[in-house]
Amino acid sequence: MKTIFVKKADVTDEIIRQAAETIKNGGLVAFPTETVYGLGANGLDDDAVNSVYLAKGRPADNPLILHISNLEMLKLIAKDISPVAKVLMNVFWPGPLTLVLKKTELVSDSISRGLDTVAVRFPAHELAQKLITAADTPIAAPSANISGRPSPTEALHVLEDMDGKIPWILDGGSCDIGVESTVVDVTGDYPIILRPGKITFEDISDLFPDTQYDQHLVAEQGEIVAPRSPGMKYKHYAPKGEIQILSGELLDIQQYIDKHLTEKSAVLTFTQYKIKHKNIYSLGNINRPEEGCAKLFSHLRTFDTLGIEKIFAVMPDKRGVGFALYNRLLKAAGGKVINL
Ligand code: AMP
Ligand code: MG
Repeated sequence: MKTIFVKKADVTDEIIRQAAETIKNGGLVAFPTETVYGLGANGLDDDAVNSVYLAKGRPADNPLILHISNLEMLKLIAKDISPVAKVLMNVFWPGPLTLVLKKTELVSDSISRGLDTVAVRFPAHELAQKLITAADTPIAAPSANISGRPSPTEALHVLEDMDGKIPWILDGGSCDIGVESTVVDVTGDYPIILRPGKITFEDISDLFPDTQYDQHLVAEQGEIVAPRSPGMKYKHYAPKGEIQILSGELLDIQQYIDKHLTEKSAVLTFTQYKIKHKNIYSLGNINRPEEGCAKLFSHLRTFDTLGIEKIFAVMPDKRGVGFALYNRLLKAAGGKVINL
């Protein structure tokens, strides 16, 4: 299949209309959102949805998020919307928040994969909204990477993974946030955070003090707790090289790196941690984890391109958005932190 790559400056309303037509007809379109690039399919068309799993090589038990651009669409796919859900929608939609809700009959098992719930997001990105509105259907859109690779934050990342497999890639420049949406289960009396993101535990617990993290996210090292969100159990976001997260004082981190570095190693660090090594990649200011989120996946892809075999990553500050950065790094590192 020939993939049409439309550069940012060339994405006109007419192009969006044509791409939306492809979605309506069961085809796949990669498009930008404020979090990462999505691989979009008509969420109400089983064949289209199944082709998303094929293109990504996505595990069959991992359900998809449906993206909407108005609340009329929500009524088609979700029911019994709780007061908690309504408040979160009012405050954070459109935005980087996915809500897990009871699904309606219209949502087939190709989306929900055995669950009686559906995950829904109303993205804030203008192009995403225009595409969903033009397609006039909820769009199933997982991150537009091959499963197991870092999520794409640039259209060229999508091209790396999807060239020849899908008809359209719409370029929207770099994604502002750079990590996937916060996923929150709102089917009960209080919110349960299943995947951390830009909307933080603190943001949500300000509104609902009994907010909880899924136990899986806060388990101790070595403790195995099954996640409630099927996708969270996979070693996601991984580059080909091995990542070691290093926690400790600058001096100890430097010593560890000096002892274990190889020809093909690299360092992911923050402005405040001035590590000496020939391949330094910055995650920005440790007190502004948004900076690290915006850069992490792009750096991980660069490491693959350069054939980096070992990556030393300085432990982020876990507060606020830092928890999302930590979570993605931890997944990429296979769950291990080295305490120095
Ligand atoms: P991605 O499509 O790569 O952004 O991943 C979507 C995430 O949402 C995965 O971790 C899924 O397991 C999770 N997810 C989707 N639908 C549900 C649901 N109904 N209940 C819980 N988690 C879900
Ligand atoms: Mg993904």
